[in-house]
Amino acid sequence: MKFSRQTTLRAQASVAGVGVHSGLPVTITLGPAPVDAGFIFVRTGLEGSDREVQATAEQVIATEFATVLGDHDGPLVSTAEHVLAALRGMGVDNATIEIDGPEVPIMDGSAAAFIAAIDQAGIVTQPAQRRFIQVLKPISVKIGDSFGEIRPHATGFRVEVEIDFANPVIGQQSYAFDLNPEGFRREVGRARTFGLMCDVARLWSAGYALGASFDNTVVFDDERLLNTEGLRYADECARHKVLDVIGDLSLAGLPLLGAYRSVRGGHKLNHAVLTALLADRTAWRVVEGEAARRTTRPVGEVGRGIVGGRIAAAFGPDVS
Ligand SMILES: [Zn+2]
Repeated sequence: MKFSRQTTLRAQASVAGVGVHSGLPVTITLGPAPVDAGFIFVRTGLEGSDREVQATAEQVIATEFATVLGDHDGPLVSTAEHVLAALRGMGVDNATIEIDGPEVPIMDGSAAAFIAAIDQAGIVTQPAQRRFIQVLKPISVKIGDSFGEIRPHATGFRVEVEIDFANPVIGQQSYAFDLNPEGFRREVGRARTFGLMCDVARLWSAGYALGASFDNTVVFDDERLLNTEGLRYADECARHKVLDVIGDLSLAGLPLLGAYRSVRGGHKLNHAVLTALLADRTAWRVVEGEAARRTTRPVGEVGRGIVGGRIAAAFGPDVS
């Protein structure tokens, strides 16, 4: 992370497209948010008033094919992970995400359009130290043959992904990434959503993937890649899983200092590991400072008055 201070967007920038699961047209507008606000979705276009949902783990209400945020009144924003990955990946701490439909647009299946919107809006620093969740001890979760673990790491946030598909074209892939904005833009942000042709009928019958096409999904059958334009990276599938992890783990509410490893994982595993981490108050603490220089310090040592807003409130006495 380059900045030791929190950042937000300088201006608003919009992205319009269709939802991959709903097939519905939708526009999202990224914009500034105050210090300690985190990422806030504002659902517009509803009968009655707009509804807000904080992009945090406790607002996750489904993880089957995408990460869905909502509240006691039901789902509000589906497929939140790619735009959240773009914000976290590019080093934005606080942003509003206005959305006029139920699902974030899939665009080309990657985070590229959201990165372009962040570039267009510009990033500005804010008058408060960046705060992090520092992982203090390993937390692991096993779900079927999936395994996920988050553990302490010397500096920054590292993601290690291993995938192992029976499909011979995808097969085994692994990718490790130390999060930084330029690396995210170049190596991870452009990796697209992928799927198997044989799964499409099943997804359609379940009401998913209605907007999926070769324009937004890398599709494989048992013998080959079906997209005529080819892959952006030989290991694009593993890189996309890294993109999803960055989005899903942004729901910690603050940037993480730690290393996350996912084996045959997905949104459900990512959410389970994050939830298990946050539930164990001996496994993390909030620190502030410049992670890359190891000058972080526990927030408790720097006194009162430096934190406020909803994210700070969510972490309660630890940061007061
Ligand atoms: Zn994804």
